[in-house]
Amino acid sequence: MSDCIFCKIIKKEIPADIVYEDEDVFAFKDNHPIAPVHILIIPKEHIETIDDLEEKDKELAGKMILTAKKIGRDFKIAEGGYKLLFRVKKHGGQEVDHVHLHLIGGAMLVERIYPINSE
Ligand code: 5GP
Ligand code: ZN
Repeated sequence: MSDCIFCKIIKKEIPADIVYEDEDVFAFKDNHPIAPVHILIIPKEHIETIDDLEEKDKELAGKMILTAKKIGRDFKIAEGGYKLLFRVKKHGGQEVDHVHLHLIGGAMLVERIYPINSE
């Protein structure tokens, strides 16, 4: 999509710190990292949200997760562990409307989501 910032990064019209690329997926460092390692894994195809994924995309979705696993090893954060995060639409806090998987690690990530009825 022509005005999508992540499509522009894929086309190298906007610079980014690229860490991985193949025919289906693309990965680059988040420019506002929230941890020592913060990488975004995206499909090359412009798909706006996880809610737009279809049956035909299941291999692509799996490939994004396996790419995160590979990059986690490349960046030597696999042993300690890391967090994978998809934000979906407005209530999920999604700001860029091109599917992206956050790979976040390199530190102890203590954030927890508690049940809404806990005291
Ligand atoms: P969201 O909130 O949609 O899940 O995450 C979007 C992420 O994209 C944010 O963490 C933000 O820092 C990152 N981001 C937004 N614009 C750019 C950009 O132009 N370059 C890079 N490298 N990251 C970006
Ligand atoms: Zn896009």
